[in-house]
Amino acid sequence: MPELFIGGAWTAAAEGGTREIRCPADGTLVATVDEAGPRDAAAAVAAAREAFDTGPWPRTPAAERGALLLRVADLLQRDKADFARAESLDTGKRLVESEYDMDDIANCFRYFGNLVAAGGGNRIVDTGDPGVDSRVVHEPVGVCTLITPWNYPLLQTAWKVAPALGAGNTFVLKPSELTPHTAVMLMRLLTEAGLPAGAANLVLGAGAVAGAPLTEDPRVDLVSFTGGLATGRRIMAAAAPTVKKVALELGGKNPNIVFADADFDAAVDYALTAVFLHSGQVCSAGARLLVQDELHDAFVAQIVEQAQAIVLGGPFDENARSGPLISAAHRDKIEAYVAAGLAEGAVLRCGGARPENPELQDGFYYLPTVLDECDTQMSVVRDESFGPVLTVERFRDEREAVALANDTVYGLSGAVWTKDTGKAHRVACRVRAGTVWINDFHPYVPQAEWGGMKQSGFGRELGPAGLAEYQEAKHVWHNLSPTPQRWFA
Ligand code: NAD
Repeated sequence: MPELFIGGAWTAAAEGGTREIRCPADGTLVATVDEAGPRDAAAAVAAAREAFDTGPWPRTPAAERGALLLRVADLLQRDKADFARAESLDTGKRLVESEYDMDDIANCFRYFGNLVAAGGGNRIVDTGDPGVDSRVVHEPVGVCTLITPWNYPLLQTAWKVAPALGAGNTFVLKPSELTPHTAVMLMRLLTEAGLPAGAANLVLGAGAVAGAPLTEDPRVDLVSFTGGLATGRRIMAAAAPTVKKVALELGGKNPNIVFADADFDAAVDYALTAVFLHSGQVCSAGARLLVQDELHDAFVAQIVEQAQAIVLGGPFDENARSGPLISAAHRDKIEAYVAAGLAEGAVLRCGGARPENPELQDGFYYLPTVLDECDTQMSVVRDESFGPVLTVERFRDEREAVALANDTVYGLSGAVWTKDTGKAHRVACRVRAGTVWINDFHPYVPQAEWGGMKQSGFGRELGPAGLAEYQEAKHVWHNLSPTPQRWFA
């Protein structure tokens, strides 16, 4: 069956393009899928435009839109095992992590389903004039282009699809060309849940070929993008001539600040998951460890000991605790960052190489790596390497910790570890990031907004603001008994 979904029909790429999807864990062929070109992108936008302008979805009552999202959540739960397996084959991530992701994805649909069904947001405005009915209503923005990355393929998609549909929009989704399968499966579930034809459209293919037209097309009203900073800049520029609404969820280089009075064991444990979960391919990863001087030696020694014990393996290896990188090109990039860091004076404490295990040679594995004695001038500290590489910086006091934490162009997430509640809150308030954890790392809930400051992007996903991104506020002023004003009489 073809994999592009346009106007409610499964179609092959107009120009016959295909792409092989290979599992990053061992290079095995997962499937060959259709690869769209600009003509397919244009057809998908046309279908979404038609469905928005004349189709039933934007005019479906909010309660029914919410109910559909809740049905999708149930279907996702029903098919969880199939979805998780497909996600793991595309990404190489451990099956158990994909299973967690599927629960989060169903919860995201459930959250937005309930939020939308509850209505709200529209309000009567008191103008002081009983002859006027003044209301603010929230309408869908229109046709949305949704572009997503490969690290959490369906999760990032759900954060966009659920609120976009909930608000009554139609959309064209372009997932990462490396990880298309769960997006294809989601289209089937949306149809099964009763979404009318044309409201959801799917285009698979390379960013520059299939994605770029979706960001330029004048028939598109909004572009919501999750991915890298360089792509985000291009997308913002592409959307500018037609002044589309744009939301950008970009990268991060996130500080994990550990004070000397932190709970040692917990801080070590969370510092490891902060950076090495999913081999560091997490936008909010705690890739920068900022540790107070007097704690530094003991803390880094413990991190190194535990990092060296992390077992690497494929998605279905139950002993493995971390998986491969997404591609050979991505591993090359990480190796270049580590080499640059060492050349700039960083000290290698562990890793810094591919594993020697012969069973892992067909996958894109890289050892958990700790680079000590780093500073914010090094490219390995400044740039997002998006791999299993922890850089360690020292600080003397609270003031220096905050200054170092903010010495980055990014502002996605950060964490502070201390038993001093006052200090924890002072630092959390001063770190310029969209999410700050205190004595924790990574948790999020769909009720709370997610997004970046500075060059980590703008706009918010999840929470009420995540729905508002996909809505336009309109003021409707109704003069109930118009009489001539005679302004020009
Ligand atoms: P990427 O920017 O290379 O690609 C992301 C998506 O954009 C893909 O679907 C790609 O095909 C598409 N694309 C590429 N060029 C395009 C263009 N010119 N026009 C339109 N679309 C284009 O990013 P990636 O390597 O897939 O993902 C990793 C990045 O995503 C990291 O930087 C990570 O931090 C970021 N990310 C951010 C968040 C967040 O919530 N802020 C979450 C996950 C990932």
